[in-house]
Amino acid sequence: MNRGSFERSILVTGAAGFIGSTFANLMVPRYPKDRFVLLDALTPIADPNNIDSATRNATNCVFEKVDIRDRAALERIFNTYKITEVINFAAETHVDMSLVNPQDFIDTNIVGTHNLLQLARACGIRRFHQISTDEVYGALGPEDPAFTETTPLAPRNPYSASKASADLLVLAYHRTFNLNVVITRSSNNYGPRQDTTKLIPLFITCLLEGKKVPLYGDGKNVRDWLFVEDNAQAIDIVFRNGVPGEVYNIGGNCERSNNEITVMLLELTGRDESAIEHVADRRGHDFRYATGTAKMHKLGWEPQTTLHDGLERTVRYFRSKTEEVP
Ligand code: NAD
Repeated sequence: MNRGSFERSILVTGAAGFIGSTFANLMVPRYPKDRFVLLDALTPIADPNNIDSATRNATNCVFEKVDIRDRAALERIFNTYKITEVINFAAETHVDMSLVNPQDFIDTNIVGTHNLLQLARACGIRRFHQISTDEVYGALGPEDPAFTETTPLAPRNPYSASKASADLLVLAYHRTFNLNVVITRSSNNYGPRQDTTKLIPLFITCLLEGKKVPLYGDGKNVRDWLFVEDNAQAIDIVFRNGVPGEVYNIGGNCERSNNEITVMLLELTGRDESAIEHVADRRGHDFRYATGTAKMHKLGWEPQTTLHDGLERTVRYFRSKTEEVP
């Protein structure tokens, strides 16, 4: 198959996951002249239904079940679809699982990314966009300034260390082989389609089902919350307009403690504080992340969704999912 009349043939990995599917559902209809090759290994955290049927059936979209650790299978995808750009969302993402089984994180997040880089170089692709995380910068104290793109990398768990390693490989391919790369490092995303093992969807589903929510430690850990569609818009801007070799931080301008998030979710689901169950803190639980957005601001992007509106939409989504269950 050649590129036909398409201007681009964009490989989107991790497309059945939370952020990748949100990106695909927004961008496939927006760019009918681009072909989107959606790829995912469909690991247990993925949900193929995250990709809307309108997206899946669009004439500029195909889906391939492929593992980025499988170099030969990836090579077939690059050749079959004459890939011109790559956006790499695929990753093992659950920090707790990285404490239990770090090897999977090394294999997918580092070796898998390197497979993509090697093929991107060999096939002369025009853009390689690595989806990364602000967790590569480590953790902040209560009074520290927010991370910037020049904050030194100081990952503190196997997940963030594997993501930082991948970022270094991506930048090395730019400097050594002149590959056209960009990296986006976002803060904590939330929204519809997120896996229910992650904090906000876990809490929402527990609350909707009348169960208690397990709050780690004293609940004072702070995250900078970003609505997933705002992240998808920022990724699109960097993908199309970012400067090669540059890193862009994407923050939500929305620092909240887990306690504050829990109180908002109790209100939105009509539950009270008796639904909170304090559980022992996890090992290596970073105290605070916060991400500056000054560089993204210069590209014309700001987060658009308030925390209240984003959480309301997320609760509505999980309520409709809960009602679907017979
Ligand atoms: P997710 O776990 O929902 O999705 C990841 C997807 O990657 C899944 O569909 C999974 O099946 C797929 N995948 C995993 N291993 C694979 C492999 N070997 N080959 C092919 N596909 C594979 O995660 P997400 O929250 O959508 O995260 C997407 C990206 O964004 C990740 O790179 C993550 O590090 C990054 N990120 C996430 C957040 C967040 O808050 N969720 C914040 C910052 C950065």
